[in-house]
Amino acid sequence: MILAREAIELVGQIARILWFEGTKHGLRDREWMALRFLSRANRFSRTPSALASYVGTTRGTASFIIGELERLGYIERKRSATDKRSVMLSVTHQGKKFLVRDPISVLLEAIAVLDDETKIQFRDTLRHVLDQSDAAEQRHHTDVCRRCIFLREDRTTADGKTTVEFSCRLFRAPIAEAEVDLLCTNFEHHRQ
Ligand code: SF4
Repeated sequence: MILAREAIELVGQIARILWFEGTKHGLRDREWMALRFLSRANRFSRTPSALASYVGTTRGTASFIIGELERLGYIERKRSATDKRSVMLSVTHQGKKFLVRDPISVLLEAIAVLDDETKIQFRDTLRHVLDQSDAAEQRHHTDVCRRCIFLREDRTTADGKTTVEFSCRLFRAPIAEAEVDLLCTNFEHHRQ
């Protein structure tokens, strides 16, 4: 148990880079979290309500964060092409450029120098901890589409060539290959 406690104490100290008082490069920690999320979220999760759920805040606070990021020119909102009542949020070119100043870059750089096997073990260990705490607290975390219980994969082989098509059984919609590694707040993992 001592090793587990030590590990969590370290995670707690790493979290100080994510959560801070005041602003860094003009944004508060939650605004950074929102901008980061929108740059990695799939089309079903780039909405005000999904953003509120990911950041762990009320719709009112999420609206304030969205307004601030919009005012600074880092995100834009558009009416959804499929549902005119819904709003879709997107990171602008300026927002993408600004993300190079993300305070978590120092963590990304520290992890990037590790060999691939260690990076995979590190990621999978964090996933294991999140999956277990989800099960204990009856909640679900946001994760990539590739691991979701609702992702369907159809393989067809013709002329010796195999093609793979993805679709979401929850939204009843096709998923492009480039989308399977994006974040979704409706993600649900396979329970053992
Ligand atoms: S398969 Fe899961 S993660 Fe992917 S879009 Fe559907 S609900 Fe979201």
